[in-house]
Amino acid sequence: MVEKLITELVIANRILAREDVVDAYGHVSVRHPENPERFFLSHSLAPAFVQRSDILEFDLEGKVVGSDRRTPYLERFIHGAIYESRPDVIAVVHAHAEDTLPFGIAPAKLKPVIHSGAFIGAEVPVWDIARRFGDKTNLLVTNVAQGRDLAKSLAKNSVVLMRGHGFAAAARSLIDVVRMSVYLPRNARVQFKAMQLGKARPLSKGEIAARTGGYKPDSPETQRAWQYWAERAGCADLLKQLA
Ligand code: MN
Repeated sequence: MVEKLITELVIANRILAREDVVDAYGHVSVRHPENPERFFLSHSLAPAFVQRSDILEFDLEGKVVGSDRRTPYLERFIHGAIYESRPDVIAVVHAHAEDTLPFGIAPAKLKPVIHSGAFIGAEVPVWDIARRFGDKTNLLVTNVAQGRDLAKSLAKNSVVLMRGHGFAAAARSLIDVVRMSVYLPRNARVQFKAMQLGKARPLSKGEIAARTGGYKPDSPETQRAWQYWAERAGCADLLKQLA
């Protein structure tokens, strides 16, 4: 179970890199299936290069479990704090995807406007690190307190934008969080373009519920996307290992 999950986490890293959600920066994690107080995340490495041997186990305060001395990501606290505050969350992504950034600094609210964007949910809060930590931070989430403040802002939602920085996304599975992170910047891009033409019309609450309600990670439709993205990311060999 754990071995399979780690391979899936490697695939998730490669997909997010190939789809330009992450670049040198950004990361994806998954909660330990046998110990909810732990999660898996690569050491500090661009997601495009992540292999199984790069994955480390962390506790919810961002400490490496075991004796591995490789440098962890500076912002691992994002993941631990979200797992701590949201028992329903199994996978987390943090990224700086450029198309999401305007919505973290302008008055316009990011809303789901396309069917594939429904998964971000009706509300996408914006977290401003300066509200609690002042105007002299480097904007990064570098400790447990900052992670917890971010998680508080995420609250029950699926995505939180981070002012002048990026976003964090939380979901019930790796496939869910990858899918949401791929479509989030696309939704933002469409909304931005629509706003240039006039007012952007968001999906209704009923439409969002209809899209998200019947969603199953192991449905053929979802598996089709996962397989497509994985193959595009050069992970055909890893997919075979999972079969
Ligand atoms: Mn960051």
